[in-house]
Amino acid sequence: MRRPLVAGNWKMNGSCEQNAALVDGLTSGDRGQQAEMAVFPPSVYVANVAEMLADSGIAWGLQNCAEQEKGAFTGEASAVMAKDLGCKYVLVGHSERRTLFGETDEVVATKVQRLVEQGIVPVLCVGETLEEREAGTTIERVGAQVKAVLDQFDSAGEIVIAYEPVWAIGTGLTATPEQAQEVHAAIRDMLVGYSADLAAKTRILYGGSVNAGTAAELFAKEDIDGGLVGGASLKAEEFLKISRAAG
Ligand code: PEP
Repeated sequence: MRRPLVAGNWKMNGSCEQNAALVDGLTSGDRGQQAEMAVFPPSVYVANVAEMLADSGIAWGLQNCAEQEKGAFTGEASAVMAKDLGCKYVLVGHSERRTLFGETDEVVATKVQRLVEQGIVPVLCVGETLEEREAGTTIERVGAQVKAVLDQFDSAGEIVIAYEPVWAIGTGLTATPEQAQEVHAAIRDMLVGYSADLAAKTRILYGGSVNAGTAAELFAKEDIDGGLVGGASLKAEEFLKISRAAG
């Protein structure tokens, strides 16, 4: 039985004051019985948010990490530092990292390795562009992104995969539950090729303009084990509703 995960990617939003209000709303509200909740604040705020979340049962993590362990890499933060901050999860390969910062499948695979070495669970983001969907190459593209990572991954370990169609991120367009389920099932099938146990235990999240109105139908699908939520995770009440939609 996979415990659903509802993860909030705050992207480059927030302030000390806004974060405190958001965390207060999340910790004092009803998250539902089933889902695990995690938040991904901008890295400069993670230590402060972690302090506020202590003993809340809500996990936290970075939105990205460096390929390198330490040294002269101005502006970067490493997996070792994420571990030091008590991060349980770290996002890797978000489409904004891939498109705006040129991260290739190989770079993403290296970051996953760095995180695994630290005992942190990577949340691997994959997804096709609109052009790829229209060309009928969605499964091929997503499959290649997953393969680049899993070929170097010990299937006894833990990973979370977030399927996020690029055309649905921050656009207000959500994949239909059927469109999402088709890709999630294909990812699950791929995982079976590595290990039946890995396929059974790996949570595959859907991301792309999820909101309180669309979450329940998406999460009801067999292979959708929760969501990675951007915009709607910045409003405590809405994010709580999304969490409750997971059970
Ligand atoms: C995301 O940032 O991963 C995301 C899915 O954003 P949004 O929910 O705003 O589309």
